Amino acid sequence: RQSLRALLCARLRPGTLRWGCRLDGLRDGGHEVSLSFNGAEKMVVADIVVGADGVRSSVREAMALRTSALRTLGVMVILGHAHCTHEMCARSDTVFELLDGETRLYAMPFAPPPIGTTMWQLSFPIEEGAAHELSRQGGGAMLEFAMERCGAWAEPVPELISHTHPGDVTGYPVFDRTVGESFGGGGRMTLIGDAAHPMAPFKGQGANQALIDALELARAIYDSDFGDDAAAANAAAASATELMARRKRRRARRPIQHALNGYERRAAVRVQAKVESSRVATDLLHSDAALAVETGVTRAAAAAAAIIGQDTRAAPSQRLE
Ligand SMILES: Cc1cc2nc3c(=O)[nH]c(=O)nc-3n(C[C@H](O)[C@H](O)[C@H](O)COP(=O)(O)OP(=O)(O)OC[C@H]3O[C@@H](n4cnc5c(N)ncnc54)[C@H](O)[C@@H]3O)c2cc1C
Repeated sequence: RQSLRALLCARLRPGTLRWGCRLDGLRDGGHEVSLSFNGAEKMVVADIVVGADGVRSSVREAMALRTSALRTLGVMVILGHAHCTHEMCARSDTVFELLDGETRLYAMPFAPPPIGTTMWQLSFPIEEGAAHELSRQGGGAMLEFAMERCGAWAEPVPELISHTHPGDVTGYPVFDRTVGESFGGGGRMTLIGDAAHPMAPFKGQGANQALIDALELARAIYDSDFGDDAAAANAAAASATELMARRKRRRARRPIQHALNGYERRAAVRVQAKVESSRVATDLLHSDAALAVETGVTRAAAAAAAIIGQDTRAAPSQRLE
């Protein structure tokens, strides 16, 4: 993730990103949005605002959307980064998963050598209040809990947990949100990523969908009346062949609010299926069905097949969705 972030940041003009700014107020005035940061230390007026501020989004709150509330899924995830020398961890091409029908531990290479860390993810059913309490107690308590739960599992699990520093452990209850037909409010603010559509992490879709949101939103803005300057700059930089290809597809130049509404409706359809399949995977991976033995399919697909007799030979996109 750090490498991807560095790549994306490198494409921006200097000064585009400003770090250390906490948004603490915003107001949509119809033609522009006013934002305040760091206790009104910085004030900004913007044509549009894109909230990419995660599951507890302040932008979403300011949009006052009449959509469904965050839904707890009754599962907690504890995340750790370990310096573990076991051969399963030392290889930078090995991902592994162990589970017992209730608790699941998934591990993957994180930082390549010479740093050489493995990221592990332990998940298990728990009530929301107890999950918050365990999270509040901090890394040491969560490591102890992980050891109690999986200390007797096969190696490298005990070694992985015991080679993790408490400061490298975090934990959260898992939430999602039903998306519905759109997540827009009709104004000049919109959302991408978890702010728009938090989902359980068990299908590895949250960040991927956030990236697709960003791409689709950028296209929608470029296609709107806000895209004129960017289109002119692109045209000036384009080769003759690129210009010919572009002329075949004219920009719609619709008003920006229409463009945002269109993006929000299209994205809602795309992500709702991911939210639902991630929710199903949450149940399956922490149930006896997860112990089903299959080859060539994901664990969630094997579990689904064990329960509902779904055909695991179907294309991946058709499974569970
Ligand atoms: C255990 C786990 C495993 C996962 N595995 C995968 C996976 O394999 N594949 C995948 O695609 N996804 C995965 N995800 C999901 C993925 O991490 C999220 O979907 C993704 O990080 C969402 O990105 P985001 O930018 O929308 O939100 P975030 O990553 O939450 O970023 C929001 C940012 O906004 C900032 N912010 C919040 N409020 C304010 C404010 N008021 N002012 C200024 N800044 C603010 C925060 O500091 C943060 O930097 C996983 C998630 C978890 C928990």
